[in-house]
Amino acid sequence: MPMDQVNTLTWKPNDEVVCQYDFPGRSRDDLPFRRGDLLVIVNPTSDPNWFRARNSNGVEGMIPANYVTLRRVVTLHAMPWFHGKISRGEAEQLLQPRQDGLFLVRESNNYPGDYTLCVCHEAKVEHYHILIQNNRLTIDEEVYFKSLDELVQHYTSNADGLCTRLIRPVKKAGDSFGTVSIQDFRSGGWVIARQDVELGELIGKGDFGDVYKGTYRGQPVAAKQLKDRERGGQSFLQEASVMTSLRHENLVKLIGVVLGETIFLVTEFMGKGSLVEYLRTRGRNVITKKDQINFATDTCSAMNYLESKSLVHRDLAARNVLVHDDGTAKVSDFGLAKFGDFSLSSQRFPIKWTAPESLRNNIFTNKSDMWSFGVLLWETYSFGRVPYPRIPLADVVMHVERGYRMEAPEGCPAEIYSIMKQAWEIRPEARPTFHEVLGRLDHLRSVTV
Ligand code: ADP
Ligand code: MG
Repeated sequence: MPMDQVNTLTWKPNDEVVCQYDFPGRSRDDLPFRRGDLLVIVNPTSDPNWFRARNSNGVEGMIPANYVTLRRVVTLHAMPWFHGKISRGEAEQLLQPRQDGLFLVRESNNYPGDYTLCVCHEAKVEHYHILIQNNRLTIDEEVYFKSLDELVQHYTSNADGLCTRLIRPVKKAGDSFGTVSIQDFRSGGWVIARQDVELGELIGKGDFGDVYKGTYRGQPVAAKQLKDRERGGQSFLQEASVMTSLRHENLVKLIGVVLGETIFLVTEFMGKGSLVEYLRTRGRNVITKKDQINFATDTCSAMNYLESKSLVHRDLAARNVLVHDDGTAKVSDFGLAKFGDFSLSSQRFPIKWTAPESLRNNIFTNKSDMWSFGVLLWETYSFGRVPYPRIPLADVVMHVERGYRMEAPEGCPAEIYSIMKQAWEIRPEARPTFHEVLGRLDHLRSVTV
């Protein structure tokens, strides 16, 4: 049954909603939809319970607000007390010394998908099952919360039926970027049902698992499977959480996540595969100057959008740009993406694409993405060659720091090579912004036949 009341005051044109029930429509003005459909709000009406919306075929009509959920951005929480999938025994080990109110939260082992709150009281540990009911969390089935954060805050201010109030968390070590809670994907309207996704052939292998071609309610999709939940869970969900905040025609669109036994990240299907493979397999005879400038401009347009949001991609390369059936290039692979400037040690980077200051000092900014964009331009105009041919990987950094730069690929327009050279300025400040480069590429695109 549809929800009685929804607060629709904040719903804006262009917001996305996901349908929770089938709606056949009652009059000709209505837009019929089925559970699982994605719609975009066109505008509110004088009645807060009805909105004008558009479906994926571009058809517009009226929809009842209580049949749909607004999609919200999933953000990272600082949840230092969340320890993920640890056992009951491990939790008890961590809760030392046994002071009243010392607590942590873990994923439930007996009830997959649920959580457990573990609290010390009188030298013992109590384990409270946190149930998920209708996208909300509860311990006593009396008080309900939207997030783990909210639940912890509540029981910190008041024991409210627990053995004690929560006083001090056992903090998880090495967790500086915050955690993503599965619950936020649920309440944010991003979870799609496993039975709505039909899996087809295997089309790729990722770091975290296999990528399948599939369909989601008839629409072609790619479904990336998380293989090892213990190991990759947080990074995988972090990639999905970054994607919930992004919407641009040159970024691969997140359709939703499947949660359960196996976790899938479901995105729009990019029929022509990765840009690097596309360039290599078609080559000079098929790919035109126009195609190349289109790929470059599309990619730059997405990067300009990320730059405007201070989001650093960190892994920009032709292998992480995908090509749609209609030829549009879209940036993907936000596995390493982070907001703001940051540094991080002990990670392995794709050396030939990574800026010198990132390799040396682990500093990643939109300017280091610009360096990678220069390499991507080189790949594009050399039809997918591996950068720095003939230089052994171990020597690349040394050569680059001494001032060596790749030559222009054969047939590369002078204006493009000049962008590459500026992207490879040793001083990050001397490199152009994506905004500037986009202007130049747009112009070049308009004069390329
Ligand atoms: P990871 O970065 O985790 O290693 P990717 O996201 O790069 O994994 O995916 C691996 C491969 O799967 C890609 O190189 C591409 O060939 C294929 N692939 C991934 N996403 C899509 C998609 N949306 N459409 C078509 N193919 C895809
Ligand atoms: Mg990849």
